[in-house]
Amino acid sequence: MTSSQSRTLSAPVRVSFDYTRSTGPVLGRYLEGLRDGVVVAGRTSDGRVITPPLEFDPVTHSATTELVRVAETGTVVSWTWCPEPVEGQPFDRPFAWALVRLDGATEPMLHALDAASPGEVHTGQRVRIRWASERVGAITDIACFEPTDAPPAPGMPAPLETLTARDAVTATGPGASTPVVITPVNLDYTYAASPEESAFFRGLAEGRIVGQRCPACSKVYVPPRGACPTDGVPTSEEVELAQTGTVTTFCVVNVPFMGQRIKPPYVSAYILLDGADIALQHLILDIPAEEIRMGMRVEAVWKPREEWGTSIENISHFRPTGEPDADYDTYKHHL
Ligand SMILES: [Zn+2]
Repeated sequence: MTSSQSRTLSAPVRVSFDYTRSTGPVLGRYLEGLRDGVVVAGRTSDGRVITPPLEFDPVTHSATTELVRVAETGTVVSWTWCPEPVEGQPFDRPFAWALVRLDGATEPMLHALDAASPGEVHTGQRVRIRWASERVGAITDIACFEPTDAPPAPGMPAPLETLTARDAVTATGPGASTPVVITPVNLDYTYAASPEESAFFRGLAEGRIVGQRCPACSKVYVPPRGACPTDGVPTSEEVELAQTGTVTTFCVVNVPFMGQRIKPPYVSAYILLDGADIALQHLILDIPAEEIRMGMRVEAVWKPREEWGTSIENISHFRPTGEPDADYDTYKHHL
């Protein structure tokens, strides 16, 4: 969290993962075609010719088997101007996104069209594929479209091949060696904390856990949200909470995932801090996962002070205090 003179904190957040899928017989053949400078399309049961080919027929839902070749020239069906390209787009200068119906296809495909200004693009314009100088079997093998004077290509679509059901099974079944496409997915945004949450985060930077009390029902919320969801009134009275609490519910994490920092099994729990009315989620460590139970008394374990920021991660985890378990009646209304 970055701090400023304002009441609120904000922080950049990046959510990212690699989306991985096998290409299968249809898209595998399409990508292989791009590598070889051939545009592969699929014919659907109602006679449409679509590129990139669909893996399953939209009408009958059966696997696509008939592959055909379409031209590398086509016609702009629709377009839009991209005045400010962002990272990862085909150009780092303004360009057009165009829906282009390649000669031989019945449906358009989307790609970038290299043009210096919107005045150089129009619906009905003839364009052709500009191939990448080095082709690897990816959609980026098509660098972009560019204007051309070429008339519609004759003889398209041209027959290519018919996949059998066996192709589909052997190419996607267990142990198959079909290529895998890895697509990195990123979402960058700035999280802006409310004034109440900012107070909570600033408290954490001082080793304190700060909540807020509702003036109507006296419930204490942590982290504070600025209003009581029951009464709909603003909460303003700050309350510093104890660093001890009771496990209300918990889950044992057994599933490994990418980027996991703790070896499973481990426990993520809802902890009702003493003095709070809603539970806070955190890790319970320093005890075997199978010994954790509802009602267990726990305390916050803070990271070394030099590692603190304005973050809930200042608290490394919670651990058992060794006190007798809390009676169910003391937390049954806070589950
Ligand atoms: Zn209330």
